[in-house]
Amino acid sequence: MGFIELNVLNNAASNVALGIDLGTTNSLGARWKDGRPIVLHPEGGSGYVPSALHFGEQGGVIVGREARELALLDPAHTLFSIKRFMGRGLKDVESDARSVPCPLSETQNGVVQFEMRGRKFTPQELSALILMKVRDQACKALGGIEVTKVVITVPAYFDDSQRQATRDAARIAGLDVLRIVNEPTAASLAYGLDQRKQGKVAVYDLGGGTFDVSILSIEEGVFQVLSTNGDTHLGGDDFDRTLVEVAKKELAAVMRPSALEDRAFLQLLRLAAERCKIELSTDPEAYMHVSLPESGVQWRRKFTRHEFDALTAHLIERTLHSCRRALADAKLPPEQIDEVVLVGGSTRVPAVRARVEKLFGRKPHCELNPDEVVALGAAVQAHVLMGGTREVLLMDVTPLSLGIETMGGAVAKIIQRNSTIPCQATEGFTTYVDGQNGIDFHVVQGERELAADCRSLGRFKLKGIPALPAGMPRIAVRFHIDANGMLTVTAKEESTGTSARIEIQPMNGLSDGEVETMLNSAYRNAREDFDARRAADLRTEIGTMARATERGLSQAGPALDRETRRDVEEALAAAKKAAADTQLDAGALQKRRDELERATLPLAALLMDHVAKAALSGKRLDEV
Ligand code: ADP
Ligand code: MG
Repeated sequence: MGFIELNVLNNAASNVALGIDLGTTNSLGARWKDGRPIVLHPEGGSGYVPSALHFGEQGGVIVGREARELALLDPAHTLFSIKRFMGRGLKDVESDARSVPCPLSETQNGVVQFEMRGRKFTPQELSALILMKVRDQACKALGGIEVTKVVITVPAYFDDSQRQATRDAARIAGLDVLRIVNEPTAASLAYGLDQRKQGKVAVYDLGGGTFDVSILSIEEGVFQVLSTNGDTHLGGDDFDRTLVEVAKKELAAVMRPSALEDRAFLQLLRLAAERCKIELSTDPEAYMHVSLPESGVQWRRKFTRHEFDALTAHLIERTLHSCRRALADAKLPPEQIDEVVLVGGSTRVPAVRARVEKLFGRKPHCELNPDEVVALGAAVQAHVLMGGTREVLLMDVTPLSLGIETMGGAVAKIIQRNSTIPCQATEGFTTYVDGQNGIDFHVVQGERELAADCRSLGRFKLKGIPALPAGMPRIAVRFHIDANGMLTVTAKEESTGTSARIEIQPMNGLSDGEVETMLNSAYRNAREDFDARRAADLRTEIGTMARATERGLSQAGPALDRETRRDVEEALAAAKKAAADTQLDAGALQKRRDELERATLPLAALLMDHVAKAALSGKRLDEV
């Protein structure tokens, strides 16, 4: 008797989705299990993967902890902080390029490339390697279950191309991105802050090489980024550097200056400094050791927490300065912040916690590990997106549709409600009258079919449209909502490139209650709205048909027999009158429209004939 292998594990895998914090310094995966998110630690290993890559002589690339250690022996072939280069061109990264040990170039599409051992790698490809490592670690921790669905986090300030680069990295890694989520939003989710009816949250994120602060508002589970601030070159590495500087000064007595500046030696100093710093987070004093047996250097130095705090006070002050600016941009005094969330390994430094607490006047959340909280939140989001149960959660979405008023007062919805932001959509428009050289755009928000029933967000005018027959100019109207919820509407006439734009913060001045009222009224009026919309569209259509008919009559009219001509004129007059009568419903308008269409059939046939003749004249038959 034989056995049939059942791949039960793989079946179970289909509903596991990972949350991944793809960090500048460290990356980490988490999943939802038994009612809460957990970090995935493979047996015997720690969960996080240092975001470091080492390029071997044989062409192999090693990722993570080992790569970080190899940097000691071979710094010239080790890369760190790839995230800084995501979605960037060469000239965006000039200052960061200096700390890269290899040459950089650019692809044809303006993407930075690292040249390592004769090969070129984009940041997307390198981040893909990090993502694969995180995925593999997670799979190991899950006992071999395959996972492909992920939620990945990015800083709130990441622009579209940086977000797109992150998506591309995931695609290269063979992962299916359920959503890209802002890091501060994820951290707030991990603390369940989305369950608040409303509130303001400050997320203070001090990582390895970057500092961000984000002020968020929560309304009915929807997060909105009110402001962000920070410093992309301020983090735990700078804390380490203060200790490295002390060490270098003292070691200068016993070492040659060139040996002190050796890349590998500096990396060794940095690791020793970091170890000492981490101990100081829990102990009042710690030792920093450096030993280079081959050159006989043995250095050991005690640091007290008090001394460390003095060395790093100016760094913390810089973060607080950013916090004050973020508050000012969000127009909120610190007292109005309801929750403060600490994120990033460097917020384990006691002085950081104490000073953040003092600034905001409240105890920050630090119940969860600050270097895990983003991954945990991403896992919460992944769980919800996989249809998992937890309080309904909407986030980083547009709660109401956004659109443009069209001719006749209807609304062309361009961004549908509940679209995840950032997002964009473009729709084509044209002119309604011959020779029209400008268009008024009215941007509206809401679910109702008529602009008059929606919330008006703003108006703008596109001028300088070339004089052409109605319907000929092509005007692209682009709606773009950035990560902060700011809406930019741009209208562009395609032949001349003339454009006009408006910027609006669509959720400003709109309370949850009002959003709900707007949604309810749309449901309640759905039937009437549908009819009103049809009527509005029919009026527009009759207008267009009427002008075409008038043009046709003047061109080919004399060739029509008198009776047909009279039929056309009558139907035309009746249709125009109907379109102007605001009391008529869709049914009556439809009837007039159909009558006009029927009456003009002979005219249309005649016009077609004219066109065909014109087209054929001067051409040989075999050319047709
Ligand atoms: P990132 O978000 O930049 O990828 P992390 O949030 O993982 O980085 O933070 C990494 C930083 O946190 C490093 O500078 C590391 O030295 C620092 N760090 C980690 N643990 C501690 C600790 N216990 N005390 C102080 N700093 C710490
Ligand atoms: Mg981080």
